[in-house]
Amino acid sequence: MASSPLEMASSPHFVIFPFMSKGHTIPLLHLSRLLFHRRIKLTIITTTTNRPFIARFLGWTSDDPNIIDLPFPSQVQGIPQGIESTDKLPSISLFLPFATATKIMQPHFEQALGKLSHVTAIVSDGFLSWTLESANKFGIPRLSFLGMNNYVGAVCREVFLNRLLSGPESDDDLITVAGFPWIKITRNDFDKPLNQRVPATDPHLDFIIESSIATANSHGLISNSFYELEPLFVDYLNSDPKPKVWCVGPLCLAEPQPPMVEARVDHHPRWMGWLDQKLAQKRPVVYVAFGSQAEISIRQLEEISKGLEESQVSFLWVVRKDDEETIVVMKDLEERVGERGLIVREWVDQMGVLKHESVKGFVSHCGWNSVLEGICWKVPILAWPMMAEQHLNARMVVEEIKIGLRVETCDGSVRGFVKADGLRKMVKELMEGEKGKEVREKVEEIGEGAKKAMAKGGSSWRTLNELIDELQRVRLGSDESKGESYIPVDDLHLLRI
Ligand code: UDP
Repeated sequence: MASSPLEMASSPHFVIFPFMSKGHTIPLLHLSRLLFHRRIKLTIITTTTNRPFIARFLGWTSDDPNIIDLPFPSQVQGIPQGIESTDKLPSISLFLPFATATKIMQPHFEQALGKLSHVTAIVSDGFLSWTLESANKFGIPRLSFLGMNNYVGAVCREVFLNRLLSGPESDDDLITVAGFPWIKITRNDFDKPLNQRVPATDPHLDFIIESSIATANSHGLISNSFYELEPLFVDYLNSDPKPKVWCVGPLCLAEPQPPMVEARVDHHPRWMGWLDQKLAQKRPVVYVAFGSQAEISIRQLEEISKGLEESQVSFLWVVRKDDEETIVVMKDLEERVGERGLIVREWVDQMGVLKHESVKGFVSHCGWNSVLEGICWKVPILAWPMMAEQHLNARMVVEEIKIGLRVETCDGSVRGFVKADGLRKMVKELMEGEKGKEVREKVEEIGEGAKKAMAKGGSSWRTLNELIDELQRVRLGSDESKGESYIPVDDLHLLRI
């Protein structure tokens, strides 16, 4: 437990407001557990449908008064009634209307804030940019949580401020990143609308700019990373006075570990039994999972199934699609591989899987939480990025921190189609090859570093204590900065030019 005099003087109270997608909610719930175990009062803000997930994750009862649920806006075009989390959207193309609709929750949020007493800080997701205005109204410091690493933050900053994407003809031409000349990226490493040579007016771009400006004007930025993993990039971002980046992760290492979510605590799911069996048979397992929202075509699923079959490696594959075509492909694969492979269509406790001793490789889309979980449980990654900032994460994993290999696409482009053979070859290399051995050694070393950072006295442990102390000082009025806006960040408008 932290025990600085300021903490003891008056008990801090944090309001945590996660964005409604699993990859954004889960790390903030880990942060909540960390704060809770430092005797900090918490109020978690969410929506009605997300409440049970949050309560279960924290091991609280569903009616716990410290969870406040606000009504999610109804009748948003394209969003079916009752869908309040991005992983449940019929298509991820509905992300923008979903995210912008959250703004309608602002009056409800402010009503709830008005009823809370002595709030020290609001930690809200970067996508909930409007919460800065609410925080300012109440004179409460807001910390933004982006859920990405500092390598990506620093590379993006260099790329956009120097307009590096407007140069090359081809989307696959390598571009040297100005401030970090050993890093080469391509336009294809960026999703729309960031990948435009000449950015046009685009509501998605407006949304990104609005979120970035709100983060820049917040009291600080909470980063789910640890300093020793990426010191250069943290220092680069912190060379700008605001917003200060506070590395307090990997948050998935927060102790005690959470109860299993979406399953009863005492339930030993069949895939864990299967993993036990593989351990007894001394058969290493590759875990294949692409997060909570990746969309994969049926053709690509067929190639994955062939590649896994031909690799001859034992595999546990989490498939999130349950349409008829997918079910046929999966049934077929199950028949072909027998007990060598297991396909799961439910929500799995991914950390529990990665922790299992038989899991020796992770074919991952490189969502930042998945990468961190791979690091923490020392499982090397076969990087197969799909969307958002995952392509840059994959570069970090393979080229910067070297804890993984990259899947082979048929045309060499980072967005290319992956044929069975490209997957088979790289799964074999990861599990049995020389390069696989190198990245396995590296992930073990970095995984140890992650544990040290989170342990008592480690860099993330100290940073969190410093952050709590600083916020306490701000609220006790002994700091000039209070909760108001700091600087207009006109630079961010360069994204448009
Ligand atoms: N996750 C899980 N079980 C599943 C699917 C996902 O526990 O069946 C968790 C995973 O451990 C991670 C988060 O959901 O913490 C997904 O976040 P990530 O950043 O990896 O990817 P995203 O889903 O945001 O693309």
